[in-house]
Amino acid sequence: MKILVSNDDGFRAEGIRRLKDALTDLAAVTIVAPDRNRSGASNSLTLDVPLRAFEAEPDVYFVVGTPTDCVHLAISGLFDFEHDMVVSGVNDGANLGDDVLYSGTVAAAIEGRFLGLPTVAVSLCTLPGSGRHFASGAAVAREIVARLLEKPLERNLILNVNVPDLPREQLRGYRATRLGYRHRSEPAIRAQDPRGRPVYWIGPAGPEQDAGPGTDFHAVTEGFVSVTPLQIDLTRHTALAAVGDWLGALNG
Ligand code: MN
Repeated sequence: MKILVSNDDGFRAEGIRRLKDALTDLAAVTIVAPDRNRSGASNSLTLDVPLRAFEAEPDVYFVVGTPTDCVHLAISGLFDFEHDMVVSGVNDGANLGDDVLYSGTVAAAIEGRFLGLPTVAVSLCTLPGSGRHFASGAAVAREIVARLLEKPLERNLILNVNVPDLPREQLRGYRATRLGYRHRSEPAIRAQDPRGRPVYWIGPAGPEQDAGPGTDFHAVTEGFVSVTPLQIDLTRHTALAAVGDWLGALNG
């Protein structure tokens, strides 16, 4: 069993080191991760410049690129062997609801979906001043992977796991959840550079809007590990017929 581990916080991040250590008794683990923090990179590929990969230490590689670059390269050319699954994380911060669209952590997992086993993205729901229990996140990742090895789920499945930032013994258990929704994000923050020119910071994500029972938000608020099965099919199947009718006028 060979597991590829990646993230979007960079190969030096505490979360990825904890994750590697937690999985080593289950599988041969290789880290291929970005050289620096690429949170928010989503599913981006670098196509305009070549990618460079460096071996920082045995079984730990960093790539000057995005999380998707890392996993793409790792499963299609960097090695002369195949990995069985990708585990991404443990991210420093939640990836709940709409966050999934922007998340480099989830993107790294998505890029590994064609391997033999479901892929897993693990995020620790850190907040300013919270305990930063990366050991809990890593322990949860290990339990999920061990369960997948014992009883595999369908191929091409992506599990988005969010862990409350609590000591492992205080976690209340696991919940299968759906993604909730956030309100629109906070406005961009305008500032000035030293030459008086405007610069902008992307504002924080909006507060949760759909966070009721059954959602990922609700599970972590209640102290449970949230596990959301994701798919890539973005087609809005219920609108297909209506759009076909609507286009009819254009077909003369
Ligand atoms: Mn991140």
